[in-house]
Amino acid sequence: MTRMIAPHNIYIHVPYCISKCSYCAFFSRAISPDWDSYCNQICNEIDYWFNKLGRINVPTIFFGGGTPSLMPINIFQKIMQYLNSKFDLSCCDEVTVESNPGTITYDKLQRFIENGITRLSIGVQSFDDDELQFLGRKHNAQTAIDLINDAQKSGIRVSADFIYGLPNHNVKNVIRLCTQINDIGLQHASLYELTIEPNTPFGHMNLNMPSNDEMAEMYLTIQSHLNLSRYEVSNYSAPNQQCRHNQNIWDGDAYIGLGNGAMGRVLIDGDWFEQSGGNIKANKIDANTRATERIITGLRTTRGVLIDDTIKNIVDIDFINSNNELVQIKDNHIIATSKGLLTLDNLILHIIK
Ligand code: SF4
Repeated sequence: MTRMIAPHNIYIHVPYCISKCSYCAFFSRAISPDWDSYCNQICNEIDYWFNKLGRINVPTIFFGGGTPSLMPINIFQKIMQYLNSKFDLSCCDEVTVESNPGTITYDKLQRFIENGITRLSIGVQSFDDDELQFLGRKHNAQTAIDLINDAQKSGIRVSADFIYGLPNHNVKNVIRLCTQINDIGLQHASLYELTIEPNTPFGHMNLNMPSNDEMAEMYLTIQSHLNLSRYEVSNYSAPNQQCRHNQNIWDGDAYIGLGNGAMGRVLIDGDWFEQSGGNIKANKIDANTRATERIITGLRTTRGVLIDDTIKNIVDIDFINSNNELVQIKDNHIIATSKGLLTLDNLILHIIK
């Protein structure tokens, strides 16, 4: 019998940074690693999945971090070549590398592009030098602006991440940020509310954060002032400029996570496996668990969750039909309304039977 192996997107984690930001709870360390060992580890993991799945189709590749732009070009080149030798990248139409201003020169960016990247995601966070310093960032606003301009003129797709809701922020700060994003012509931006995580420097400070109502007001202000459309809770894009990798994962497509700290969801002969990079292990997960995951990620998107049999088995259709101000069914998708998004965690608890 021929095995049916689905396409798998690939996420590669690069858990290294030049220093630790004051709010950061991501899996990353402020060290300069042995890049050859890192590369060998990634190639070993690629081998493992090649042996298990064969020459799969890879629709998208995403190097996330950490700070993947710190990766030496020869390491990036080796990983891309190795992926190409084991998997079918002919349908791969998006290769994203996350970057931080100050860690990638114009020349290095050109080398990344020569070796396959089609999209640069830049951790800008703010266009205000005082705010950048407060956040513990090592770059200033001009360095970020220069990198955005360099990437835009290089002809690749460009996204930038921002943080709002800092202590003493109000809607005026958000309006200014949206105007700056519009003026620089970004086609994709991710705007995240500052959340204080324990075990971070901010977690040990008694910061005077905006209230939940003030945060909600700032969130709603983004959509009315940004020239981009929201397509996920924190992600905004011009038409057809959405991050395909993330959209595929939010839709519930299969993906492999490579590198320490990476997670994946692998699909083999109709069965789903929870996978984590580094450990090279995969535990089977049942259909209801996978359907629940799809609701959690899909409801964050404006596209919503496709209603297939596995989703039908776990959702409370009566609840949806009687709470249309929060959640609706359109074109066989469950979609959260703007109001529903503000209380999404609670809404999900009610939608799942
Ligand atoms: S650059 Fe990103 S991953 Fe690295 S410490 Fe800062 S927030 Fe964390």
